[in-house]
Amino acid sequence: MHIFPCASAVVRDLSPDEPVILNRPHAAGRAARFFAEKFRGKSLYAVKANPSPDLLQILWDNGITHFDVASIAEVRLVRALLPEAVLCFMHPVKTPGAIREAYHTHGVKTFSLDSAEELEKIVEATRDGAGNPATDLRLCVRLRVSSEYAELSLASKFGADLTEAPLLLQAARQVADWLGVCFHVGSQAMSPFAYVQALDRVRAAIADAGVVIDMIDVGGGFPSVYPGMEPPPLEDYFQIIHRHFVALPIAYNAELWCEPGRALCAEYSSLIVRVEKRRGDELFINDGAYGALFDAAHVGWRFPVAAIGDEFAVMERDFAFYGPTCDDADYMEGPFALPENISAGDYIEIGMLGAYGAAMKTGFNGFGNAVAVNVADEPMASLYRGDRVDPRVSDNVVSLR
Ligand SMILES: *Cc1c(COP(=O)(O)O)cnc(C)c1O
Repeated sequence: MHIFPCASAVVRDLSPDEPVILNRPHAAGRAARFFAEKFRGKSLYAVKANPSPDLLQILWDNGITHFDVASIAEVRLVRALLPEAVLCFMHPVKTPGAIREAYHTHGVKTFSLDSAEELEKIVEATRDGAGNPATDLRLCVRLRVSSEYAELSLASKFGADLTEAPLLLQAARQVADWLGVCFHVGSQAMSPFAYVQALDRVRAAIADAGVVIDMIDVGGGFPSVYPGMEPPPLEDYFQIIHRHFVALPIAYNAELWCEPGRALCAEYSSLIVRVEKRRGDELFINDGAYGALFDAAHVGWRFPVAAIGDEFAVMERDFAFYGPTCDDADYMEGPFALPENISAGDYIEIGMLGAYGAAMKTGFNGFGNAVAVNVADEPMASLYRGDRVDPRVSDNVVSLR
């Protein structure tokens, strides 16, 4: 595949009429190696953040061997691409058919659950042809924890609370060959303390249950860098998590797992869009809420932006974006700082869209086509490049290129 040096080369060569996704394999590989080498445990990739087969292959090639899958389609996808990968079905509410196919056809042994009903469902769906229960299940009880340090909450939908967890752990212990506890602190957790709080809750649940625990899975939530969101270094998260993990009352050989989605793929992709019309401080662009910019529209996420080209004014002003569909909700408030003389026909690169961006594109209203190309330059910001200024010791923002 041809590799472009950067976004402006893509615009020069293609003058694209539709949005273009720019993928940076080197950035995804770097993130994978960082987790594989520095997290003191196993790092599973949460496939929903970006299920692109190219990305899955890059992560595998760079040391990610375990994958957190949440639907039977994700199980099939990863299994077809990576026959030797270990797949863990970490959605606490699955269909019986999905569990059956995952276990009997694709060799999935690890399942999460947060209720007695789900436990029963897993036991039934994994029986062998003679009706005997499975003896090799690796079960993971999902605890409900606070999302107060995260930019996107995951606290209300899943997880057993502290009144339910001890009984559930005891029941799961009866049928599991290997028993873990998992949680999710919410996405883009801006402080490592999120995990400390959650691990305190794990400690309480284990103490009440009085069962042997073989694994602790601290879930996802590891941050990336966006405008106005400068997290502490990931090493701080890893260190604090490990320190609290080793102090838990668990099996001496218990494993530590994490399930990063965003942190492994945010830097992988950016997007080129074109301004189709300008109306004051509003730019009508050719991708939006139903495309790769779902989070920019629906949760007001701010992404870094840069005008492509060199004929622009130095002065910038704040813009909002409209997407291409006829829906009023196809609106992204930003603010997005761009040259004050930007106008129809100009191209913009929108950065840090590898997680929950390209993966969420729809075909609504006939839009949603986008080609993808590889580029060799650096992402607009990085947690892994080694030149980032630690936000704890300085007010400086991360260097934009
Ligand atoms: C979405 C999800 C993840 C990944 O979360 P990030 O915030 O992207 O790291 C991990 N585990 C589970 C169970 C999830 O649902």
